[in-house]
Amino acid sequence: MHKKLFIPGPVDVAPDVLQRMASPMIGHRTNEASVLQKSCHDKMQKLFYTENMIMFSTSSGSGFMEGAIRSCTRKRAAVFSIGAFGNRWYKMATANGVPADKFEAEWGTPTTPEMVDEVLATGKYDLITVTHNETSTGIQNPVEEIAEVMKKYPDVVWCVDAVSSAGGAKIEVDKLGIDVLITATQKALGLPPGLAICSFSEKAYEATKEVENRGLYFDMQEIYDTIIKKNHQYPSTPSVSHLYALDYQLDKIMLEGLDARWARHEEMAKYVRTWANKHFELLPEERYASRTLTNVKNTREISVGALNKELAKRGMCISNGYGKMKDVTFRIAHMADTTLPEIRALLFEIEDILGLN
Ligand SMILES: *Cc1c(COP(=O)(O)O)cnc(C)c1O
Repeated sequence: MHKKLFIPGPVDVAPDVLQRMASPMIGHRTNEASVLQKSCHDKMQKLFYTENMIMFSTSSGSGFMEGAIRSCTRKRAAVFSIGAFGNRWYKMATANGVPADKFEAEWGTPTTPEMVDEVLATGKYDLITVTHNETSTGIQNPVEEIAEVMKKYPDVVWCVDAVSSAGGAKIEVDKLGIDVLITATQKALGLPPGLAICSFSEKAYEATKEVENRGLYFDMQEIYDTIIKKNHQYPSTPSVSHLYALDYQLDKIMLEGLDARWARHEEMAKYVRTWANKHFELLPEERYASRTLTNVKNTREISVGALNKELAKRGMCISNGYGKMKDVTFRIAHMADTTLPEIRALLFEIEDILGLN
């Protein structure tokens, strides 16, 4: 039996979207490929509220995280981490020989604009990374407030990891001044894993010109140049199947309407938070709580493994905590095509299994 996935990726994919993955192949150097890729590009610009170039990579989201920090750090990167995925960005820097320092907030708390200001005031850094939505702790960082600080530092390239939130939370790239916004298909976009997506500003592009060793597969400059030179084609063969499915899913997203989509996510998030506060506790402070997943403190010390075994019999699955939070929290994702009635049904089953009320 298929278990409905309430885990923070991969998420369930609608059957009609999955079907698009089975479209007949086309050559990746054909005009048809250019048309498909430009179509995905233009629709993603709308989703991200940006005029910046949109680039795709046949990899998971991590590919573009590594590509961005390596291709755009001229002097030194400041990595702001609030959990496991922020820490991974720092590891990517050091593994690539990119000079970087990590500024890690206590897990369960956000990156504040004051922290960013203090670090950038040293003048040591020309690139920063911020996690929009930290999946290990369920925190959405206050990027609007951080954007205000970033206005003081126009030469600093701002990279944002929105892998688990873009498509489920409104992120206005141009208004915020984000240079590189990164996501992947298998989370709030509601597609199978395998494609990374980013927006890439001219400022980020100019920065790549001052970086000598940008690697090859994730050389952001080469990808950008190829899109321009070859009319939305790529240096190597992209996953055409993903692009077919993405193009179709973006139509469905626009049909729902972006504002309606953000509101649906907000409504599901509020519902789960209220439930969590009633029966357990929330890990993050409410104003920093994620729109796409809820991290619940396991105050009843339930066995999440045993709960999931029972849920599996009822065709559902949630997630335990991540990394060092494995046993102290559990996580319920409410992203992509998930609906409030489905969330209600899940929480009803959990209450039934745990004998809550
Ligand atoms: C899932 C996730 C990643 C990693 O993405 P992959 O697509 O698995 O490479 C990075 N950051 C965040 C916040 C995530 O949730």
